[in-house]
Amino acid sequence: MVFTQNILFIFLTTALFHFSMCNLISENEIIPQNETTGESILLGEISKPPLDRRTYLGVLLPNGMKVILVSDPNTTKAAAALSVSVGSINDPDDFLGMAHFLEHMLFLGSQKYRDENSFHKFISEHGGYSNAATQSDKTYYYYRVSPLALEESLDRFAHLFISPLFTETALEREVLAVESEHQKYISDDWRRIERVIAQTGKPGHPFGRYRTGSLETLWTHPKSIGLNIRDALLDFHLTYYSSQLMNLAVIGAQSLDELQLLVEKVFVNVPQSNITLEDVDGSMTQLYGRDELEERIDVAPLGNLRSLQLIFPIDYVPEYYKNTALGYLSHLLGQEGPGSLSAFLKKRHFAESVTVGGFLPSRGMTFFKIRLALTQEGFRNLNQVVKHIFQCITMIREKGPQLWFWEEVRAMSMMHFRFRDELYPIDLVTKLATNMIVYPVQKVLYANGIDPDLKYNATSIDHTLGLLTPRNCRLVVASSELQNTTTHKEHHFGVEYNRVKIDEDLLQEWENVTLNDIDFPSDFYLPEPNEFIASKFDLKPRDNQSLDDTFTPRLLMDTTFTQLWYLQDNMFLLPKASVTVELLSPMAYGDPLKANLLLLWSKLITHSLAEFQYSASLAGIHSDVAAMEGGIQLTVKGFDHKLGAFLEKILTRILTFSVGEGDDQSFAAGKDAVLDIIVNTGQSQPHEMADRVIRQLFLETRWTPGDLLDAMEDVKISTMRSFIKEYLDRLKFRWMFYGNFEPEECVKIVQDCEALFILNGTRSIFSSQAKTVLAPQRVIQLPEGANFLHRVEQSSHSSSCTVVLFQIGLDSSRSSMLIQLVSRVMHSPIFDQLRTKEQLGYTVWADDFGVAYYSTVSLRILVQGSRDPTYVEGRINNFLADFENVLANMTEKEFLRHRKSISNIRSNPPKTMTDKVATITREIYSQRFNFHRLQVDLETLEGIGLADLRQFFTEHISNPKTRRRLAVHVFPSVSLINSTFPLTTPSDGMGVAYSVSNITGGNDNLFTAQNEIMADLIEDIVSWKQTMHLFPNSNPFNPLN
Ligand SMILES: [Zn+2]
Repeated sequence: MVFTQNILFIFLTTALFHFSMCNLISENEIIPQNETTGESILLGEISKPPLDRRTYLGVLLPNGMKVILVSDPNTTKAAAALSVSVGSINDPDDFLGMAHFLEHMLFLGSQKYRDENSFHKFISEHGGYSNAATQSDKTYYYYRVSPLALEESLDRFAHLFISPLFTETALEREVLAVESEHQKYISDDWRRIERVIAQTGKPGHPFGRYRTGSLETLWTHPKSIGLNIRDALLDFHLTYYSSQLMNLAVIGAQSLDELQLLVEKVFVNVPQSNITLEDVDGSMTQLYGRDELEERIDVAPLGNLRSLQLIFPIDYVPEYYKNTALGYLSHLLGQEGPGSLSAFLKKRHFAESVTVGGFLPSRGMTFFKIRLALTQEGFRNLNQVVKHIFQCITMIREKGPQLWFWEEVRAMSMMHFRFRDELYPIDLVTKLATNMIVYPVQKVLYANGIDPDLKYNATSIDHTLGLLTPRNCRLVVASSELQNTTTHKEHHFGVEYNRVKIDEDLLQEWENVTLNDIDFPSDFYLPEPNEFIASKFDLKPRDNQSLDDTFTPRLLMDTTFTQLWYLQDNMFLLPKASVTVELLSPMAYGDPLKANLLLLWSKLITHSLAEFQYSASLAGIHSDVAAMEGGIQLTVKGFDHKLGAFLEKILTRILTFSVGEGDDQSFAAGKDAVLDIIVNTGQSQPHEMADRVIRQLFLETRWTPGDLLDAMEDVKISTMRSFIKEYLDRLKFRWMFYGNFEPEECVKIVQDCEALFILNGTRSIFSSQAKTVLAPQRVIQLPEGANFLHRVEQSSHSSSCTVVLFQIGLDSSRSSMLIQLVSRVMHSPIFDQLRTKEQLGYTVWADDFGVAYYSTVSLRILVQGSRDPTYVEGRINNFLADFENVLANMTEKEFLRHRKSISNIRSNPPKTMTDKVATITREIYSQRFNFHRLQVDLETLEGIGLADLRQFFTEHISNPKTRRRLAVHVFPSVSLINSTFPLTTPSDGMGVAYSVSNITGGNDNLFTAQNEIMADLIEDIVSWKQTMHLFPNSNPFNPLN
C-alpha cells in the first residue's frame, strides 16, 4: 500500500498527523511585489484537466495575499477556504496549543459582526457548514454556503481576519473546548504513537512539543507563572496573521471578474506585516539527528494494535510533483504483487499489511516510512522481519533504477489527473488554499501527482535509495505485549514507552545483506508490467433516455436467481463505471456463528485477492469484498475498459477459494483479524457505541459483540468449509451497474459470471426466500408516550455519550422533511448552548437518524463529553423546553429562510460516481425505489408551513403523551471515572458558562449522584424487544411492475 492521495488529504482538527505535501515557495516562483499601485496582479495560467468545466484565475492582492478564484456557473454550492502558513510549531513555549486555540477563537465575532455566534449562524442559515483545522505548519478555515449568500459570507469571513474580537468571556470556554478535544484524543492509539515519535526527536525541536494543547498547557501552566492568555493570543495573532502569509480560494457561480471584485473589496483590508515564510519556519531542520537514529522505540498501546514502523529521514523535497524518487520508490516498495515485500511478509504470516510512502510532517522535514500491521508471529520475529525489509530494499538497489517502471508510474498519474472526479466545492477550495502555501499557482491542481514535464532522474532514485539504510533509520514498535515492560512515560497522554539503541551486531547484520546470501529469499523480485491499465477511454453511445435528467435505474433482469439493475451515467461522462454484486443468502446473518463465518470468509477472500487487487487499484480499478447482513457484497469501480474481466477474475477466485488448503496459518490469522474486529467494536468511541446500541434496540435481529465473541469458539476450518459449500449451493444475485455501460454489455457480463456459478452447481434459492432475502429488517415500534432509557458501561474511553432519540415513524417525505427542518433550526442554537456556553462536550449533534437502509426515521440529539449523562440529559431537556419558545416566537420570515436553507443543502447533486451509486443503492436496498427522492422531498418541503413545524414539534418531541422517546447513556466504567478527568455535575445555575474551576475541581461524581431522569429502564434488550411491536416495512414508493 502506498500513502495515496486520499490519505494525503485527511483533514484533522489538530496537528498530530500531517500527510499533506507542503513546502517552501520554490526558488523559481517569483512573487511580484506591487505595493505602490495598490492593484492586484494576475498570476499565470493554471493547468487543469481537459474535462474540467470550471475556470480558474490566480490573483495576488496588493497586501500580498494569494488568491485562486474558481467560476462554475452550474455550481449548487459556493465555498471559500483561507490558509495561514503558521501552525503549532510556532506555539510559544509557555502556551503549547496556541495556534490551535487561536483557530477556535477566530470564529467568535469580529468588530463588524460582533455576535460570537454570528458567522456560524449566517452560514448555517444559508445552507452551509464551516470548520477549521490546525496542523504543525499551517492553519486553515473553510466553509460552504448557498451561492446567493457568497457575497455576504465573504464579507463576514474576511472580517474574522481583519478584526477578530477574541472576547474575554470566550477565553475560558474555548480552553475547555480544546481540553475536551485533548481528552478525546488521549485514547487514540495512533495519536499516542505519533506523540512518542515526535517527542523523541532532537531535544527542543519545535515539532516534538505537544500541539493540540490542553487545560494544562493553555491555562493552568501559564497562569501559574503569571502569564495572561489573552495578551499571548493577541501577540501571536499580531505576529503571524499577516495577509502575505495567507492564501485564499473561492468558488462561486459568478464570473471570474465578478469573483475578483468580491474578493478584492474585502480581503485587501486584511492587515499586512513584514513577516516572511522564512521567519515563520525559522531554522526548521529534520526532527532526527545522529543521536536519534539507530534507535528502537517500543510503545505500549491501549488497544490490541500491533505495528512496526521504519522511519528514514531523507532530503527535504519541497515539490512532490517534481520528485522522481518518492513516487517511484513508494510504488516499488509498496506494491503487493508477486515478488513484493508485502506478498512475502503476508505469506510468512509476519504482516497483515504494508504501507509505504514519503511523508512531510512539517515544512523542512521529509520522512520515508514503511509501516507494517504486524501479526503476533511478526512481533515474535521482529528482527527477522526488519532483516527481510532490508533484503527487499537491497534487491531494488542492486537491480538499479528501472525506466519502464517510472514511465508506468507517470502514465498512471497522468491518467488519474485527466479523468479525475470533480471535487466538491468545499474540498476543492480547501485543497487549493493549503496547496498554494508552497506550490506555484500554475501547478496547484496536480500538486500531488507528477508533473507531466518531469524528466526521469536515475541519480535521484539512487541517492534516495542510498538513504534507506539501517544506520539512517528509527524503528517504532507498538504492541500490547509491551505493556508493563516500559520505563518512560510521555507527559500529555501518559503514553508508556521504551527507547534503546539498536545492537551493533544487528545493525551490521541488516547492513550487510546481499543478493548472494544463502538465506536471501528467492521471493523478492521486480514486478511485471501492470495488466489492468486501461487503454480505451471512449464514451459508449448514450441511451436516448440518458439525456433526461430524471432517468432512473431500469430492471434488466428479474428472476428468482438474478436481479439486474442498470443505469447509464448521464452526469459525469467519464470512461468509468461501477458494478456492485451481492451474493444473497438467508444463511448470511442467520445466527452469530454464521455471521462470524461470513465475515471471516470475506476477510480470507480479500486476503487472497491482494496480489492482483493492488495493481488494479493503481490502474484506477478499485474493489471491495464485504460481509453484509444479506450476504457477500462485491464492488468494483473505475475505468470501465477492463472492469468486466476484472470482475470475472474475482468471482472465479471466490468460487475456487479453498479454506486452509495446506495453509492453516492463513485461517488462524483471519480468525484473529475477525476477533480483533469484534473486540475493537466493543472499544469504539462512545458515540459509535451509542449508535450500535440503538441499532441493537431497534432492529429485529442484531447480534451483540458478546454473542459474536461466544460464537468464535465454533469457527473452525471444518465449519467454514461446510458453510461455504452450503452457501454457494443456493444463492440469489443482485447486480447494480452504473456508468459508461450499454445494457447488452451488462447482461452479457452477468450471464458470463453467473455461468461460472451454475457450472459449479449453484442453484437459485427457493422462491419465497428470494423475496425475503431482498427485504430489509423490520424496526421496533416504540408506543406513543414511550419514555425508555438504556444505560451501557464502556471501559475504553473516559468520555460519556448521551443520546435522546424521538422516533417519528415510517419513512415518508413529509416526516423526513419535518425532521430536517427541526434539526436545521436547532443546529445553531444547540451548538451555541450545549457546546459553546455549557461546555457539555466537543461533539454535539441534532440530526436526522434513519437506521440506514431500513424504513423508519427519527430525530437524534447527541452529546459526547466529560459529563454525567444524567446531567446532560437534563440539560438537553432544558434546551428542548427553551426551543419550544424559539419556535413559538419564530417569524414567518425566519421560517422561510430556514426552509430555503434546506432546499439549498439538498440541491447538492452527487459529484462523484461513488456518491451517485450510493443514492441509487440506498433506494434498492431499502426497497423504497424512491429514485426521485430529491425532487419529491423538495416539493413536499414547499408545502410545509410554520404551523406544521410547531405542530410536529409538539406532537413528536414535547408532548409526553404522544412522543416516542428513547434515551441511551454510555458511561465510562468506575476505574476510568476515577482517573484523570472525572465526569462532573456542576452545581451552579443553568445555561451559563461554567468556569474552569468548577469543572475541574468538582468531585460531585455523576455516578454517585441521584438519577433524576424519570424513564422506563431497559435492562435486558432481548426481553424488552419481545414485548414490542414492529413497524411494517414501508410500501415501495414506486412499485416494481
Ligand atoms: Zn479544535
